[in-house]
Amino acid sequence: MGPIGHFAVGLAAKPVAPKVPLGLLFLATWLLDVLAIAFGFAGIEGVKSGIPWSHGLFMSVIWSVLAAILTSRIYRDRRAGAVVGLSVFSHWVLDFVSHPIPFSSFSWRSWQWSYGHPLPSDLPLLFSDSPKVGLGLYNTISAVEATALEFGLFILGATVYAAYVVKKRKAGRPQPA
Ligand SMILES: [Zn+2]
Repeated sequence: MGPIGHFAVGLAAKPVAPKVPLGLLFLATWLLDVLAIAFGFAGIEGVKSGIPWSHGLFMSVIWSVLAAILTSRIYRDRRAGAVVGLSVFSHWVLDFVSHPIPFSSFSWRSWQWSYGHPLPSDLPLLFSDSPKVGLGLYNTISAVEATALEFGLFILGATVYAAYVVKKRKAGRPQPA
């Protein structure tokens, strides 16, 4: 899934973790792709080796737990930690539903344009040679439908976030006597 769909989760997570800045929630929901870009540059992940370090189920759990521990330490708030950890893991869940992504788009991982044809699953359970999973939603719908889906999710998330901001403003306003 693209960043728009992942950011939707970050928006929806804000009301349950008010201490955590929205930017950090966005980063949390997009962390696995940030790692994929970094690991791609570093040559750790790529066309041959796949994406086990950023998007493998096992490592995704590790990144989520690390993010949860780090956040709960920084904000001295276990709930904030739990929400950020779950936000990181939500990336894997959304990618599990949508991957593999066969659209004509620039791939940060393979560093090339890929063309629209069904691709095999690309999310490893453990590391490079382990079984790969993915429900393949984006193999079966068009790029336009996928984009509409992601914007739809984003609007849902933005609605949750907007409702939270309005409620907070009302609560912050002095009550009329
Ligand atoms: Zn991803």
